[in-house]
Amino acid sequence: MHRGVLLAQYRTSSRTDDKTGLHSADWWHQIAERTLDRARIDNVSLAVLMIDLDLFKKINDTYGHPAGDDVLRVVAHAIESEVRHDDAAGRWGGEEFIVLLPGVDGRELGAIAERIRRRIHVLVIPITTDHGPTSVTDLTVSIGGALWPSAGLSTVDDMVLAADSNLYTAKDEGRNRVKLPDGLDLRAADDHSEPHTRPAEQP
Ligand code: GH3
Ligand code: MG
Ligand code: MG
Repeated sequence: MHRGVLLAQYRTSSRTDDKTGLHSADWWHQIAERTLDRARIDNVSLAVLMIDLDLFKKINDTYGHPAGDDVLRVVAHAIESEVRHDDAAGRWGGEEFIVLLPGVDGRELGAIAERIRRRIHVLVIPITTDHGPTSVTDLTVSIGGALWPSAGLSTVDDMVLAADSNLYTAKDEGRNRVKLPDGLDLRAADDHSEPHTRPAEQP
């Protein structure tokens, strides 16, 4: 078989996370590299949100691993449905998700992150346990954000690390919250009237 075909197959099979249907971490990273290159050329901003389910181990412990998988699928779908089609949503690790948001500025970023946090909080997820059907509610997530351009961020990995660091600050501060880069605040977050609009089409 031609090496190019193998390569194509490998890349195709690894683009999607089997469990959730989101981009795999590798593929998300490739998209992010290309998008950052493009953002430099077009001189537009680029944001990353890292989203981690709070105390997810307890879901598995209480309802079982298959129910935990169902929760991951529903949460993944909820995240995807709160962002634009062009915003790449990926599964970064077990119960951790990542979203790339081209053209989003600091004011919009807080609103989007808060919208995702709230949406997940109101989910009612039907699951089946050994004791019959029930539902999972009151899920919470902690979210860390990063925004390019800003001082000290020049690569995708820099952005991922910055978002991850803010995520862990959100955990430390009590979970169920959003932590944005210093200097950005969440004032825009309470503004429900601000839809996440598409940036102007490139000619
Ligand atoms: P924290 O708020 O600090 O993030 O607590 P946590 O319990 O979410 O974090 P921790 O890292 O202690 O546990 C993560 C759990 O996620 C443990 C692991 O079994 C579960 N997990 C990871 N991947 C999967 C998966 O694919 N399916 C299921 N059902 N569980 C998973
Ligand atoms: Mg967690
Ligand atoms: Mg985690």
